[in-house]
Amino acid sequence: MAERLFPICRSITGNGVRQSLHILQEYLPLEIQEVPTGAAVFDWTAPKEWNIREAWVRDPSGKKIIDFQENNLHLLSYSVPVHRRLSLSELKAHLFTLPEQPERIPYRTSYYQENWGFCLAHRQYEALPDGQYEVFIDSSLEAGHLTYGEYYLPGETEEECLFSAHICHPSLANDNLSGISLLTFLARELQKKTRRYSYRFLFIPGTIGAITWLARNEDKTHNIRFGLVASLLGDPGGFTYKRSRRGNAEIDRAAEHVLKHYGQPYNVIDFIPYGYDERQFCSPGFNLPVGNLTRSQFATFPEYHTSADNLTFIRPEYLQASFEVYRKITEVLEGNICCINLNPKCEPQLGRRGLYDAIGGNSDSKALQMALLWVLNLSDGEHSLLDIAERAGCSFEMVQRASGLLREAGLLMGG
Ligand code: ZN
Repeated sequence: MAERLFPICRSITGNGVRQSLHILQEYLPLEIQEVPTGAAVFDWTAPKEWNIREAWVRDPSGKKIIDFQENNLHLLSYSVPVHRRLSLSELKAHLFTLPEQPERIPYRTSYYQENWGFCLAHRQYEALPDGQYEVFIDSSLEAGHLTYGEYYLPGETEEECLFSAHICHPSLANDNLSGISLLTFLARELQKKTRRYSYRFLFIPGTIGAITWLARNEDKTHNIRFGLVASLLGDPGGFTYKRSRRGNAEIDRAAEHVLKHYGQPYNVIDFIPYGYDERQFCSPGFNLPVGNLTRSQFATFPEYHTSADNLTFIRPEYLQASFEVYRKITEVLEGNICCINLNPKCEPQLGRRGLYDAIGGNSDSKALQMALLWVLNLSDGEHSLLDIAERAGCSFEMVQRASGLLREAGLLMGG
């Protein structure tokens, strides 16, 4: 899926976004929403729609030396149309490079200030000869629409879990396609299950898309019980969980719990008002319990926003592990209930119910034994299974297994 989406030139609006969403529709019955240019969305307005057909630079000998067709990162996203001849020094005012990484093409945008430009490897930039250059950008920037995709998967209650990924980057694999692909397959996984909660998946342009969705769906936000913004999920780095603004919401505890027991390196950071669309979901007027779960944190790895964030940078095994962590988080959320011990006066006799490992078994049965005792002790209607798992220092799965056994034995009620 990432391979199919990779070559498409996406931006915050335009046909690249539509084409990408149409591919997603092969996997999910996604609704595509079109918001007209100029629509007021809180303090912002839906921008003009940008489309690009062709863009290149010819050197003084007439040779095409930068070509959008070869790599869509070569063009400053949202470049206005231009066709002119100019000197090298005039051209340089419109060129963007990464001197610290001279072989890589940077990714640059100019959404809210009309401009044009090209991005290229610094090595190539330094070798440009003096003389007259010709630049050509066949783009359009005019009234149209802002496009996003939405998929709502109903559950037993209207309370919902919001998952969101940005869809506005051109050929960047980790910072775009990893989140889109993961959420698509997570939605397909959740379709197959009995769901206590409803799930909403948003595939939206970064910042303006989240602002637009929130402005148009403010009446639905009271149903959002938890959420995650998905991005950067295919690189080799350890996991990074950035807490919601609330800091101790159920999603924060569930994500941290799963990472703690997943057995791979991870890092938890507090909310900062910078990053991905959790910035909008966690703005004070909404303060939604939405965190951001990535592998490497944005802007902390050299491939970030460069041509090196390509299909060789993301690997199936890392995407798979990320997928498993997301799936496990949904399992914790779905299964996090409060139970009642039906025999709370002293411990029930577990041995005669076959629940006491008298001989002493392997470490797994020892852990289960402890989980049974913790569940019995804390199931007073006030502690959820996640509370118990945290207090007992064992995995949610183990606590859930113990609660299932106790329910079968008639010792526990709830859920
Ligand atoms: Zn980005």
